[in-house]
Amino acid sequence: MSDLTDLYQQVILDHNRRPRNRGKLPSANRVAHGDNPTCGDQCDVYLRVDGDRIAEISFDGSGCAISQASASLMTTRLKGKTAAEAEKLYAEFHDIVTTGKEPEEISDVGAFAGVHAFPARIKCATLGWHAALNALKGDPAPATTESHTD
Ligand code: ZN
Repeated sequence: MSDLTDLYQQVILDHNRRPRNRGKLPSANRVAHGDNPTCGDQCDVYLRVDGDRIAEISFDGSGCAISQASASLMTTRLKGKTAAEAEKLYAEFHDIVTTGKEPEEISDVGAFAGVHAFPARIKCATLGWHAALNALKGDPAPATTESHTD
């Protein structure tokens, strides 16, 4: 096992042990629910959107380690970002989990590159992100991975 692989595994373990921004956000003005029935993962994402920017973000949910670690990491990536920046970060993350291509610079998101080898887990890894983007759009409809081909 390479040092980098080991480091990346630590990232996922760490986000599971100490999830970031977990719990309801009392000041939230957007919320979306994500559901991944294939694996049984659930994820609620709360946002306080100020203008075009995500001022505050949190998630709450249950499910497999990949889904919860990914949601935790997602909150750290999206906090303070604009909607356009959030879309771009999601596109980057999606590229990593579907192709396995690690980011050029060592980054926490690289921890999810290994997911590409397990197509069923890609839905776990993207669940929180889908919910966040839906919340951002103010879409009240629940995010379900079933409507996505990825
Ligand atoms: Zn899962």
